[in-house]
Amino acid sequence: NTVSEPGDGTLLAARAGTEDVRQILRFERQLIAGLENDQFFVEFQPIMSLETDDIAGFEALVRWRHPDLGNVSPQRFIPVAENLEAVVQLDREIIARSLSFISEANRVREEVCPSHRDCEPIHVSFNLSTVRLSDGSVISDIDAALAEHSVDPAMLKVEVNEQILIRDAQQAIAILSELRSRGIGVLLDDFGTGYSSLSYLARLPIDILKIDRSFVKAMTRSEQSKTILASICAMAGALGKDVIAEGIEKPEQARMLTEMNCSFGQGYYFAQSMLAEDALAFIRSVTPAAQKA
Ligand code: C2E
Ligand code: MG
Ligand code: MG
Ligand code: MG
Repeated sequence: NTVSEPGDGTLLAARAGTEDVRQILRFERQLIAGLENDQFFVEFQPIMSLETDDIAGFEALVRWRHPDLGNVSPQRFIPVAENLEAVVQLDREIIARSLSFISEANRVREEVCPSHRDCEPIHVSFNLSTVRLSDGSVISDIDAALAEHSVDPAMLKVEVNEQILIRDAQQAIAILSELRSRGIGVLLDDFGTGYSSLSYLARLPIDILKIDRSFVKAMTRSEQSKTILASICAMAGALGKDVIAEGIEKPEQARMLTEMNCSFGQGYYFAQSMLAEDALAFIRSVTPAAQKA
């Protein structure tokens, strides 16, 4: 009888043992304190047009530098933050920094592109925790931030992953549609690692597929992976969705993906994530496609 059994948390805690529980609680306290003490910041990684070698935008990636723990990976602290109220505040900071960067990036873009004409503006995407898609609070947060920073919503994009389908898919879809109606683009992150089902693609309110880097990695080693990747690019194109390939580390990968008509690429081959200042210098260093002619 399930009624008499303790909830998931208690069961997990009992299995984990007191020492582990203490460690988790300690980590949670460190995270909350880190928020209070400004230990979190955001870096930006370029997303490039494979067609024109121009900058299309940046992905905002959160960073945590703790005085004792050093740099903590988001893969470690995001899941912990998601279980805390603190995730709301963390998201707000990430959104605010993304919007400031959109303004700065496009100011620099205009300097580099004095004629303005035909120069594509710079977009910024941020990763939205799946837990935030179970209520509408993220919409009011984004609205408030857009108003405060007076940024064009069309410059902002959100990245969500296939986990949205595991939780309350209906609710998530409603929230994403709401964001989209404001002109905010929606990206499906880590595509291919979750359900790997193509059937829901047409049903989801998404504009861009972000192919997981495991596919890009496998591409140069196996003919089969290459075929799968080419099919994903072709299918996305047929559905009217753009594709970003992540984790491009080698020129050969960039070349093959360009041949597959994959529109955008991201990875160490182009640049790692960097502080806003360095990202602005990066923008200065790249000639916009429209200026090349
Ligand atoms: P993601 O959204 O798929 O982000 C891409 C990750 O791949 C980033 O790691 C990035 O630094 C890394 N990467 C980029 N290019 C390459 C490459 O060429 N090779 C390799 N090996 N890796 C590359 P990062 O920053 O450690 O983020 C890991 C994950 O943590 C992200 O995966 C995302 O799921 C989560 N995350 C990061 N920032 C945020 C955030 O602000 N909010 C939320 N909710 N999650 C975040
Ligand atoms: Mg992402
Ligand atoms: Mg990704
Ligand atoms: Mg990924």
